[in-house]
Amino acid sequence: MSQDDDVLVRIEGVYKYFPIRQGIFFKKEVARVHAVDGVDLEVRKGHTLGIVGESGCGKSTLARCVTGLYPVTRGRILFEGTDITKLSKSGLKAFRRDVQMIFQDPYGSLNPRRRVGSIIGDPFAIHGIAAGADRKKRVQELMELVGLNPEHFNRFPAEFSGGQRQRIGVARALALKPKLIVCDEPVSALDVSIQAQVINLLADLQRELGLTYLFIAHDLSVVRHVSDRVAVMYLGKISESAASEELYASPRHPYTSALLSAASVADPDLAQQRKRIVLYGDVPSPINPPPGCRFHPRCPKAQLTCTSDEPLFIVRGGDPADHFTACHFPVEPGEDLAHEHAAIDQVDTEPALPGVETGASE
Ligand code: SF4
Repeated sequence: MSQDDDVLVRIEGVYKYFPIRQGIFFKKEVARVHAVDGVDLEVRKGHTLGIVGESGCGKSTLARCVTGLYPVTRGRILFEGTDITKLSKSGLKAFRRDVQMIFQDPYGSLNPRRRVGSIIGDPFAIHGIAAGADRKKRVQELMELVGLNPEHFNRFPAEFSGGQRQRIGVARALALKPKLIVCDEPVSALDVSIQAQVINLLADLQRELGLTYLFIAHDLSVVRHVSDRVAVMYLGKISESAASEELYASPRHPYTSALLSAASVADPDLAQQRKRIVLYGDVPSPINPPPGCRFHPRCPKAQLTCTSDEPLFIVRGGDPADHFTACHFPVEPGEDLAHEHAAIDQVDTEPALPGVETGASE
């Protein structure tokens, strides 16, 4: 953990469960979706923490807990030392000025019937900060800051391209000079050529304004260029976290290795040489996660102990002091997991280990 002064957000033992209720007259809780299941992380001031994982791993739920949109089931989220899970309604409103979100879908997150000037000016209106000509001036300054033509103030979202619409979302998020911006898959709905422009814009704004980002993505190649640290999430838990370069150079968790083998690379020669690690089966149900290591039904390195003993999230031998991995048998340098999958190929139709049912079939 870093010095408290450096840390903007500290997530401590956070759980978020969603109850599933059944019954006609009296709804009874019959199960729970374990969306976030005991997460500890921190985001340092002026830095970017990337959170990566497949769809359904809980990363967006965690992001919404950090913004105060979802109450947590258990645990604490400290923002500049204040536990936001205990804030009153008015405290939460003040906190939301400091934390803004950029959403995944630039098409769906903008009201098509409203002019962009009015959309970007929303935060000023909600918090009663500026009105009339003053608001217009501030909105046009924001448009200029994110590379939009301020003269397009009165246009509708449909008159902008996908990348420009995401710039509108960025301008709206910057309006109140937030301390933290949560980017929830901000480029995944965009064309590849436009993704780089939006990522570069976010990086430039961070340098200019000293912003702190929590950056959610499902593709490791996307977070690589914007993140100082990366945390990999699987089925509600963090499986590995390290400084960005360290994680990409020496992944220790088999799941990270598999994600990296699937990440897009610009160099076609490198892409051709790379061996893809194929993960079999879907992510198991978060209603009834597998015992032991949650990744064991899909892991090429799984052994019997993985099916019963949950691995600790600790620094493994030889790793830097800030590289944490939850795995009993971490990947060694040069180890070929793509080759390991020769055996796993046969598991597609039967359990990965004798007598072990996959979470997907539970
Ligand atoms: Fe694979 Fe076992 Fe490590 Fe889990 S603990 S990732 S199943 S080797």
